[in-house]
Amino acid sequence: MANDFPILKPGSTLGILGGGQLGRMLALAAARFGLRCHIFSPEENSCAFDVAYAKTCASYEDEAALTRFADSCDVITFEFENVPAETADFLVTNKKAVLPDPAILATTQDRLAEKHFLTDFEIKTAPYAEISSDVDLPVAIVQVPAPAVMKTRRLGYDGKGQAVISQGGDPAAAWKAIGEVPAILEGFVDFDLEVSVVAARGRDGSFSAFEPTENIHRDHILHKSLVPANITPAVAKEAVAIARKIADELKYVGVLAVEMFVVPKDGKHELLVNEIAPRVHNSGHWTIDGATVSQFEQHVRAVAGWPLARPHRIGQVEMTNLIGDEVESWKKFVALPNTAVHVYGKGEARPGRKMGHVTKVTPED
Ligand code: AMP
Repeated sequence: MANDFPILKPGSTLGILGGGQLGRMLALAAARFGLRCHIFSPEENSCAFDVAYAKTCASYEDEAALTRFADSCDVITFEFENVPAETADFLVTNKKAVLPDPAILATTQDRLAEKHFLTDFEIKTAPYAEISSDVDLPVAIVQVPAPAVMKTRRLGYDGKGQAVISQGGDPAAAWKAIGEVPAILEGFVDFDLEVSVVAARGRDGSFSAFEPTENIHRDHILHKSLVPANITPAVAKEAVAIARKIADELKYVGVLAVEMFVVPKDGKHELLVNEIAPRVHNSGHWTIDGATVSQFEQHVRAVAGWPLARPHRIGQVEMTNLIGDEVESWKKFVALPNTAVHVYGKGEARPGRKMGHVTKVTPED
C-alpha cells in the first residue's frame, strides 16, 4: 500500500498528528528539505505549532477538521503512539496516505498484544501473564511470581500505570493501584543495563539502524542516553537484528525504537524486549548532534518514499534530558564546548515534563 502513496518532493506537505517536541523536531528536519509540515494537535500551546507551516488545533474526533487537514497533506505521519484507533481508521478508510500504517498501533498500543506479537516471532521478553479481572490475579501470580511489575495494557508511559509487587507482596493492592483496568503482570527483570535501538525502514523495505543506545532512567523517566552503549559488539549486533526483525514483521515504514533489557546469563548477556515505540524516540535525540543524519531526517526520508541515509556517529555521545525546571540550566550549557542545547519552547516547566535536552559530543581519536 505504501508504494501507492505519493513520493514527497520539496514543496510537498507532510502532516503530523501530535504537536509535542517530537513533532517539532520532525518539522525542523523536514524543513531542511523544503517540505512543509502541517501539525494536527488538540492542545493550543503545542510546541510543534511554533515551527510549522500550518496548524490545526482540533480534537482527534473532529472529522471535519481531520478531513481538511488530510486534504492539505500529501502524506501523514504521527509523533505519538496513542493516536486514537478511530482517528487512524477514519483517515485510512478515507484513503489518506498515513505512514507508518496505523494498523500497527493495535499491536503497540496494547502491552498484551505487543507481548504476544514478540513471542509469536520468538523474540524474548520478560515472563508475563494476562489480567483481565481480579479473578485472574491468583493464577497470574503463580505464573509470574513476585518480584513482578503490574502494568496497564494501555496508555502507560514513563512508569505511569505501573505498580511493583515485591516478594510476598499483594497482587490485589497492585491491581487497585493501577485502577483495576486490564493489565499484564510482568516478571521483574534484574538487568545490568537498558538499551534501545532506533532504526528506520523505508517504503522499499530497506533498513538502517543507529547503534544501540544505553539508557539511564531517573524516576522512570529517561535521564541520559550514552553512545556507544556498554555492551559487546555481539550483543549490539543482536540488538539491531531484533529491531530489524520487528520492523520487517510489522512491514513498518518510518523510524521506530525498540527498548531492551540487557540481562546477565551464563556469564554473557541476553536481550529481552521491553517495549516497541512506533515513532521517533527520546533515546534517539543524540542523533541530531552526534550523527551525520538524525532520526528525524531518517523518518522524513522513510515516509517521503526517499532512500534512507547511512548515518555515522561522530564521537562519544551523552544526551541528558532537561526535565521540569532543569530547563533553566540552558544558560550553563550554552557556555560549554562540544555541547548542543535544545529547548522545546513548551510553556510551564511542570515537574516531570520534558522541556529540552543537551547533547555532549566528544570526538573520538
Ligand atoms: P516501560 O513503561 O515499560 O518502558 O517501563 C519504564 C521503565 O521501568 C523501564 O525503562 C525500566 O527501567 C523499568 N521497568 C519496566 N518494566 C520492568 C521490568 N519488568 N523489570 C524491571 N524494570 C522494569
